[in-house]
Amino acid sequence: MSLDKPNQAGGSVAQAAPPVESKLVDSFDRHIRYLRLSVTDRCNLRCTYCMAEDMTFLPKSKVLSLEEMTMVAKAFVDLGVEKIRLTGGEPLVRNGVVELAQQLGKLDGLRELVMTSNGVLLDKFARPLRDAGMSRINISIDSLREDRFKTLTRFGSLADVLRGIDAARDAGFDKIKLNTVVLKGTNDDEVVDLTQFAVDKGLDISFIEEMPLGEIDGHSRLDTAIDNRSIRQQLEDKFTLEPSDYNDIASGPSRYLKIANSDSKVGFISPMSDNFCSSCNRVRVTAEGLLLLCLGNEHSLDLREIVRDDPEKLKEAIIGSMQRKPERHYFDPKDITITRHMSATGG
Ligand code: SAM
Ligand code: SF4
Repeated sequence: MSLDKPNQAGGSVAQAAPPVESKLVDSFDRHIRYLRLSVTDRCNLRCTYCMAEDMTFLPKSKVLSLEEMTMVAKAFVDLGVEKIRLTGGEPLVRNGVVELAQQLGKLDGLRELVMTSNGVLLDKFARPLRDAGMSRINISIDSLREDRFKTLTRFGSLADVLRGIDAARDAGFDKIKLNTVVLKGTNDDEVVDLTQFAVDKGLDISFIEEMPLGEIDGHSRLDTAIDNRSIRQQLEDKFTLEPSDYNDIASGPSRYLKIANSDSKVGFISPMSDNFCSSCNRVRVTAEGLLLLCLGNEHSLDLREIVRDDPEKLKEAIIGSMQRKPERHYFDPKDITITRHMSATGG
């Protein structure tokens, strides 16, 4: 097993052995090293920007079993993927998610096993996930005001998430990052408070621009769109933001700045205002086994059929699919062309 053991300092790529060459290279010479694996499309919240109020979820027969997910993940790792993020929907509502993490934690060649969660159930799961070898966790939180949090998530309790964040800190993850989707007129007046909260807790935070994925019914995405540059401006009025060399290490879509006199960084994920596709190093697999080659395009390959019929063919099919990875996404909040919700995509 190549993952760092829990509670060792710095269980990160930087400490592990040199990377093996990735066999997953697309037609734009991007090397795919990162898989986001959605373990369920279901969720215990209904965030207004992510889902409609009434959602139809996949029937169980269509969802990959944990064994099938492990097979798919192993194929990717054998092909050069070094990092897997468990996501969803809410990954912690999937039965057996800890056992899945334990299996993935044993994959030879995997350097980082991480998760994105809404935090509601982390109180119970943080420690077992850490023990399974998970090194880092992202926790989504869009408001620190109980009433607003409830409105944004339709019925969630902020207290649960705050308990989850503390449980994650107690469990000793190498890094915990908060994720906040900013909606104009809804929570854009809280970005300073959320950043101060992250600083006080010793966490990082990323602000994410809302993407037009799936039909929603709580608001018009045109009304809530806000450019991350204005969030950065708000933060610069309150904090000193300095360049961060973490950008080179993380090589993801988030542009990080260090918050002076703190251990925290702030990241800006700006899919609407600052396209980052040229450095894309990731693909996604949905809970039903669809390999999505791009968040903002429908190019995909059905891995469920392959894993159920002839798993020997998985690697060859995955390698072949790389040539279909689109160069970039084109998001337009006026024109929802991607009907799948983020919860079904594996955000
Ligand atoms: N349920 C978990 C959570 O909320 O962290 C994991 C899945 S969720 C789909 C992953 C991330 O996507 C969250 O940070 C969420 O806020 C973000 N997200 C969901 N819908 C989005 C949208 N339409 N635009 C931008 N980010 C979105
Ligand atoms: Fe659930 Fe995460 Fe979507 Fe919120 S953002 S509804 S927590 S999947």
